Amino acid sequence: MSGFSFKVLFSDKKSKARVGYINTSHGKIEAPAFSPVATRASVRALSPDDLLACKTQVVLGNTYHLFLKPGTSVVSEFGGFASFMGWNGPTITDSGGYQVSFMWSKGKGVEEGARVVKITDEGALFKSYIDGALHLLTPEKSIAIQKAFGADIIMALDQPQANNLSSRKAKEAFERTLRWEERSFLEWKRLNQKGNFQALYGIVQGGLDKKLRKKSLDFVLKTGFSGIAIGGEAIGADPKITALALDTIAEGLPNNLPVHALGLGGGPEGIFEAVSRGIDTFDNTGITRMARTGLLFIYPEDEGKRENKFRIDIKKKIFAGDKSPISKVCGCYTCVNFTRAYIHHLLTSGEVLGLRLASIHNVYFINDLMERIREAIKEGDFEDFKSFWLQN
Ligand SMILES: [Zn+2]
Repeated sequence: MSGFSFKVLFSDKKSKARVGYINTSHGKIEAPAFSPVATRASVRALSPDDLLACKTQVVLGNTYHLFLKPGTSVVSEFGGFASFMGWNGPTITDSGGYQVSFMWSKGKGVEEGARVVKITDEGALFKSYIDGALHLLTPEKSIAIQKAFGADIIMALDQPQANNLSSRKAKEAFERTLRWEERSFLEWKRLNQKGNFQALYGIVQGGLDKKLRKKSLDFVLKTGFSGIAIGGEAIGADPKITALALDTIAEGLPNNLPVHALGLGGGPEGIFEAVSRGIDTFDNTGITRMARTGLLFIYPEDEGKRENKFRIDIKKKIFAGDKSPISKVCGCYTCVNFTRAYIHHLLTSGEVLGLRLASIHNVYFINDLMERIREAIKEGDFEDFKSFWLQN
């Protein structure tokens, strides 16, 4: 009846890396997999056809943004955000917790004019960046909105911790997250009786603190969530910090639940560190954002390595007359048909096509890397594959 299941098919012998299937009522995700972010029901510059051609299996929508615009009633009128945007595959939504908490902890908006007025145990009171209206996001409300948005995988409301939070505030956010998750779980149980089954992931917080992370993981396992999501700024941009944060719980991750890393950064290096520690899916907005600014991924065969973060800055003058593709081993539409010189020209001239071609390449690159990682795990040589990428 649930329409949701997870099965590990291959496990790496030397690490926690694994290949598995996440079955949803909208299709199967072969993990480990990348989920591009459709912030406002659109992966910027890419159509659903583009996403499929880039080997995309699953897309993540942002509850906070979709709630403010076009709004819950419009999205629900169209049968959820996937059908609204014309995407037929599996989907995930986040809870909105990241957006409201980070606006609060950094004291400024993620969007111009956005502001969190107050966070209490009841919920987060925030001001819309669109019209200044006040909204209270509670765990119950987040689940109800995510129910209306209809994703296959939804998230409990949490209060993520920024690395710079004082220890008093971090403790407060941590304790509040446990209470919010419990309320999210109860509301999910109540609402999930009707309509399509949605899997609810509990979120593991706790920064780099092993004790807190373990407490959080134990709570998620005990409560009975359908999956585990790992959050917090600690799994952001720096692969070494990501590794430290994931090391606090990697040993305790069970084999029967899928694990999602929220906002996993760090490019290929961060991905290898996360996959080695048992991550099955992850989302990241940076991959498409970087593409639009001209930071494009390259393979080891193109001299991609740790030092250059596996990427080139295509806007640099040296590429103005370069007749080669972005990558000589990439099979994406952009690399098969266009030169570095042309992409350089488009992006430095403000041509809209440049945004699309660059985004196609970066999304394809990460999905292709995930496919190669899955093959390596299946063939038992994940460690060699990882060393080949991360040598030097
Ligand atoms: Zn390419």
